[in-house]
Amino acid sequence: MNAAARHVDVIVAGLGSMGSAAAHQLAARGLSVLGLERFWPAHDQGSGHGETRIVRQSYFEGPAYVPLLRRAYEGWRQLEADSGRDLLTLCGGIYVGDPDSKIFAGAKRSAEAYGLAHEVLDAAAIRERFPAMDPADHALGLFEENAGYVRPEESILANLDLAVRHGAELRYDEPVRSWRSTPGGGVEVTTDAGTYGADRLVVATGAWAPGMLADLGLDLRVERQVVCWFTPDFSTVPYEAWRDLPVYIEETDHNRDIYGFPMVDGPAGGLKLAFFNTFQRTDPDAVDRQTTEAETEATRARARGLFPHLTGPLVKAMTCLYTTSPDHDFVVGALPEHPEVVVASVCSGHGFKFVPVMGEILADLTIDGRTAHDIALFDPTRPSLRLPA
Ligand SMILES: Cc1cc2nc3c(=O)[nH]c(=O)nc-3n(C[C@H](O)[C@H](O)[C@H](O)COP(=O)(O)OP(=O)(O)OC[C@H]3O[C@@H](n4cnc5c(N)ncnc54)[C@H](O)[C@@H]3O)c2cc1C
Repeated sequence: MNAAARHVDVIVAGLGSMGSAAAHQLAARGLSVLGLERFWPAHDQGSGHGETRIVRQSYFEGPAYVPLLRRAYEGWRQLEADSGRDLLTLCGGIYVGDPDSKIFAGAKRSAEAYGLAHEVLDAAAIRERFPAMDPADHALGLFEENAGYVRPEESILANLDLAVRHGAELRYDEPVRSWRSTPGGGVEVTTDAGTYGADRLVVATGAWAPGMLADLGLDLRVERQVVCWFTPDFSTVPYEAWRDLPVYIEETDHNRDIYGFPMVDGPAGGLKLAFFNTFQRTDPDAVDRQTTEAETEATRARARGLFPHLTGPLVKAMTCLYTTSPDHDFVVGALPEHPEVVVASVCSGHGFKFVPVMGEILADLTIDGRTAHDIALFDPTRPSLRLPA
């Protein structure tokens, strides 16, 4: 193929969580789309794998996210309808911590600001309703029925299929090596197969985005996370109690918050949980993808504070990458010095639930240069993103 001769309306670099949604939405709106991906469809080398992702609306990270979450829920149902795949399960969610903790108090603030249905449960009520859980006596839980999980690999495949159905060309095993703005106001993107021209570029390269945007002086970190699946002791707490758990987040001292899921894949599948953040800075090209027993047992030891009967064997463990900004808000928008380039990455470990609305926002920004959604929080030019001089 003579890549140099190719010119499309938009190139999407990275076909993971956000890029697959962008490619789908852009193609659906009639643009010619070329998607370029480093690995294979729905791979396990970035941030969008591991069977489940929490979705929730009483957002402790801040009420400003709530309107986007409402739109994202509509988008999940639309994506299910369009793709014929089962993606979103609402099994409820509980956010546990001290009354003034960021997770409990933050979730309550968002629920109250937007009138989201919720219940506040004390420790005794949590134990009664969810017999696998044994929170500290002084803890409170905000229970939200309208929370649950999505299936990340299926979601990415759904968006990739729909992108192709709408005419996008998607190329795998073809990483973008470099890009540059061209004098005519477009971009040129180079891979090992050649150079492609486009009017617009969407950068959705996740943990590789900081490398691709290194010239911009943004303070972005890539972090290695460890996720574990444990077998509970079913003789003390029966399987049904683990299966019927909500999704959960628990805050305790020293930034050792954990989150996890009910047993979604049968008694042999294990209970999936992890530290919210392991704070291990890494490089996506050099990350150690093996997990150690020390790491998985540290996760179990912490998790047993909430689930005392999590005593059976480890089923499996894996690593995953976060790309974080200093304020933990996302980075989404056109680059100030390259208005033809829209970036949508750096989802600070909580981006997956937004995938459908992010696809919409990226298509808006690429086509119209603006969006009706309020994304002021994600401004790539905000001062908190600047590397210290
Ligand atoms: C352990 C873990 C748990 C999480 N839990 C939740 C949760 O419960 N709820 C939630 O909402 N969010 C959660 N997240 C966060 C969420 O998964 C991420 O915010 C989201 O997946 C980021 O999407 P992305 O498109 O930026 O990255 P990715 O999905 O990784 O996509 C980036 C893509 O770009 C490709 N790429 C990279 N470089 C190039 C290149 N040069 N050329 C072409 N392609 C390239 C990569 O191969 C990859 O496919 C979690 C993340 C992790 C790691």
